[in-house]
Amino acid sequence: MSKYDPMKFWKQTIARSSKLCQICNKLIDIGETYYCERLTDSKINFISKKICSDCYKYLNKRDKK
Ligand SMILES: [Zn+2]
Repeated sequence: MSKYDPMKFWKQTIARSSKLCQICNKLIDIGETYYCERLTDSKINFISKKICSDCYKYLNKRDKK
């Protein structure tokens, strides 16, 4: 767990170019919804993770336990 974890949230985004999910490596096509990791403090320089909606659902389920 990193010190930034409490500030992280997932922002729903529509892909403007095709991307690869960084968890399952699935192709996220243009126009598809994906989720981009952000910090609530935008001043911190942070490399965000991009994941597909399936992985997002999976992560959400796991976090609620
Ligand atoms: Zn994925």
